[in-house]
Amino acid sequence: MQYACVAATQEGARCRNFVEKPGEMCETCQELKTKGEEVKLAPSPDTILVKFNINPGWAQKFEEAGIPRKFPSEVILEEKHIAQAQQVNRDPYQLRNDIADSGSQVFGPKGASEVSIFQLLEELREKGYQPQGVHIRTRREKKFDVLVIPFAHGISEKNSTFLPEKALELLREFLRLSCWGFVHVWANSPEKGKIVHTVNLSHREPQKSPQWNLYFNHGLWAIEPL
Ligand SMILES: [Zn+2]
Repeated sequence: MQYACVAATQEGARCRNFVEKPGEMCETCQELKTKGEEVKLAPSPDTILVKFNINPGWAQKFEEAGIPRKFPSEVILEEKHIAQAQQVNRDPYQLRNDIADSGSQVFGPKGASEVSIFQLLEELREKGYQPQGVHIRTRREKKFDVLVIPFAHGISEKNSTFLPEKALELLREFLRLSCWGFVHVWANSPEKGKIVHTVNLSHREPQKSPQWNLYFNHGLWAIEPL
């Protein structure tokens, strides 16, 4: 597996070069450091969008339990809104960009496989990230929709998402014991000073035991054998 270099670029994004071992810096970044330039670690995100590919059965169950369904244009607005929640002035042209395109792939182009996110959810809670604006992203062109759980930093617990108990129960059932066939983590570039990371999960395999744990690791991300 490949890992994104852990250094930040001059612009404050995560370096896009890949290294062989987790936690390493690429040659370019190391060289800068050797020359005496300041090389910082890639920054921690303000928001993490945890996204799950869900089949029509799950989509229907979530919807019936009270999780709002959003359509593509609304979703972009919603995600921007979340990412820039602390922003007063909003630039309407920013809405046209798909935020997922600007980042680096933390676990290389192939991502990681057979992963559990159980530890990750605990870690996010401990580090002060709260779920806010949970929704179903409708994809008209594809069979599977996407369940999006945004985790925002620094919001109070009472401002986090209000979901009916039925929806919370269903979410717990969905997340319990899950082995995810494929995981891709994107560290996106800062936009107006805010950083959004995306965790894309697909192929939920309830019959399989996960082989790896996904860790937030201060926003640098890591996976370790279970
Ligand atoms: Zn680098």
